[in-house]
Formats: sequence, C-alpha cells, structure tokens
Amino acid sequence: MLEEYSRVYAKIDLDAIHDNVENMHKALPEGTKMLAVVKTDGYGFGAVPIAKMLQNEKYIWGFATATAEEAFELRDAGIKNPILVLGYTFPYAYDRMLREDIRPSVFRYDMLSQLSERVLRYRAQGGDKNFHVHIAVDCGMSRIGIRPGSDGENLVKQALMTEGIEVEGIFTHFARADEADLTNAHECYRSFEAFVNKLEKDNNFTFPIKHCANSASIIDMPDTHMDMVRCGVTMYGMWPSDEVSRDKIRIKPAMSIYSHISYIKDIPENTPVSYGGTFVSDKKMRIATIPVGYGDGYPRSLSGGRGFVLIHGQKAEILGRVCMDQFMVDISHITNAKEGDEVILLGEFKGEYDENHKAKITIEELGDLSGRFNYEFTCDLNHRVPRLYFSKGKMITQ
Ligand SMILES: *Cc1c(COP(=O)(O)O)cnc(C)c1O
Repeated sequence: MLEEYSRVYAKIDLDAIHDNVENMHKALPEGTKMLAVVKTDGYGFGAVPIAKMLQNEKYIWGFATATAEEAFELRDAGIKNPILVLGYTFPYAYDRMLREDIRPSVFRYDMLSQLSERVLRYRAQGGDKNFHVHIAVDCGMSRIGIRPGSDGENLVKQALMTEGIEVEGIFTHFARADEADLTNAHECYRSFEAFVNKLEKDNNFTFPIKHCANSASIIDMPDTHMDMVRCGVTMYGMWPSDEVSRDKIRIKPAMSIYSHISYIKDIPENTPVSYGGTFVSDKKMRIATIPVGYGDGYPRSLSGGRGFVLIHGQKAEILGRVCMDQFMVDISHITNAKEGDEVILLGEFKGEYDENHKAKITIEELGDLSGRFNYEFTCDLNHRVPRLYFSKGKMITQ
C-alpha cells in the first residue's frame, strides 16, 4: 500500500481535525458561528478536503482565506458557504469575487468606490448581486484595518451609504491573545467593542456579524466570542503558543510525515558527512540516507544534530547539513534497520518499541528544534509532499 508515496507523504487525519473543530465549538455559547480559517492551503493541511468535510456542519458559517485566489480555489472545488478574505484584495479580483459571493475585508476608501463600480457594471449587464463586506478594524496590530476614531467612523458611514455594498460584518484581530498575560488583548477587545457600539448607535445600524476571536481567544478569552469566532491553528491540532491553556480544550495532532530509508552504509572513523563536512565521524558508524530535504519544506535549520527522525521507534539524529533533497541520520544503534524501512519525520511510532526510546515527534518539537514555530513548519511543507487524507482508518480519495 502507498507504494507510490514511498519517498515521502504527509498523512492527514480528517477525524482528528473534525474532533478538534467540534471541541472548539463546544467551548462557545449556543448559536455562536464559526469561521474556519483555511488560509495557506489550510495551514499546509489542505484547504479543499477540510472545507469539504466541514461545509455542512450547522455551526460553520463559512471559510476564511488570506487571498482571493485561495477563495477561488474553494469555489472551484464546489464549496458554497460564505468565504471571507482576511487580507487586502486587489481590484483585479473584484469581478470574480462579486460573481462568487466572496467577501472582501474593507478598510480603504478607494475600495468602496471600486467595489461599488463593479456592482453597478454587473447590474448593467443584468446581474443582481451586492458586495457583502466585513470592515476590518485595527485595535493594536497596526496591520490592516481602520483605527477607532473619527476617520474610521467616516469610512464606515460611507460604506453604509455606498450603492452596492452591504456591510455584513465588522472584525478585529488580536496581536497578543496567545500570551499568558492577556491585559493587552482585553484592552484591544474593549476598544473594539466601544468603537462598534458607537458606530451602531451613531448610524442606527446593527452589524449582523461582529467577530474578533482567533484560536487563542476562543480558549482563553470567552468574553470575546461575539457573533462568530475565527478558528485556525487549533483546528489542525496545533497550539497557538505554549502560553495558551492546555486544560480547557482537547485537541489532537492531525499530521504525520513518513519516508523510507533510501540507502544504508557503514563509514569509518573520520568521515565527513554532507555539504561542508560540518559533521565528521569520531568512530565507525552506520548511517542512513533519507530522501527528503529542504526542497520539500523540511527545515534546513534541523541540520547538525538539531533534528531527528524515528526508525523502528528509535531516535536517529540528523548528521551534518540537510540538503535540498536528502539528509543523513545516525542509525548505529538501530541494528535491525534496513533499506526501505519506514522513517517517521513527524508523528508517533505505533509499532512495538522500548519505552525508553522516544517514539514521538510533535510539530511543536520540530518548531522548537528548527528555531521556528509549529505552524510555520506545516505551512512550509510544499507540493512535493503529497497529502493523503484518512478517515476511520481508510484513505479518502478526493
Ligand atoms: C490567521 C488568522 C486567524 C486565525 O488565527 P488562529 O490563531 O490560527 O486561530 C484569525 N483571524 C485573522 C485575521 C487571521 O489572519
């Protein structure tokens, strides 16, 4: 089985993702909507298969992407739910966004006139659609979004009056919701809430969907759930940071990565291994070559003994530099290892093993070892690593 994926594949556990979403949903007050964040191809797990799995859940309002193209990809796959693009969208995308009911985040005056123009042109051609937009508010991230204050108020006022634009939502994003000290995030929330209240009162308008909570605030800031939450990283079984509470919600890992040993050799003492000869054996060793490298998105920063893989449930340390397509590990102590044997780059060894041996590699660990964070690792895995989807122990073909 999986013969054609011998070099490398990432196994995605759809049931784990489903459970994670359900567990996050259970933490919400009755009736709170969820926006499943599937940007960067679902944090590297695959946006389309995950959206297909979640599209009919009653509590899933829709999906969020970072770019218009990611939204189009979901539409091409037949996803019908509302889609919100969280970043700025450039005008070239507006016509297709309008036709396909893709919601832009709005925070620039010029967007209002440009979006409106497209609607009027569409109507002139016999079309009948408005742009549903969500106003982005900056409450401390200084990224996109209007700042609370008179200029922001004017933009909202204008949006409410612009022909062809329906203001469906308003949202902000916390810069520091994943820290132990949530003072800053609570301050942001209060400024957002006060701003929204003022806008609603001054304009005699109620924003249908007010939202601000990401994964960390779903877990640790229950007073910020509002009408909808935006759930990203925890869906995929990863923690937003190591300061977020672990005891309130159960999430489980959803990705494992497998390869197979491509070559085994014995090297004498004083033999350099890999580019630059940064590792030189100080004794006779047995080493294995693994046919994966930074060309797959496997971090080069795991070079030089920082990273390891599992072979027969035992830890095999990386020797010297990770190359573009291959790297070498020390298997001197894994006497039964043979060419073709399974190598776990991420995940848990399920076979028999000695309890003293480390039989698990987590994404958090790989993030730490490579000097990055957990979901940077999954986002960086590229298309050279096939994603295979499993549910109830069976592979799902898309
Ligand atoms: C990425 C993103 C999210 C999801 O955040 P997680 O921490 O992954 O849950 C929510 N909102 C915005 C605006 C984002 O950019």
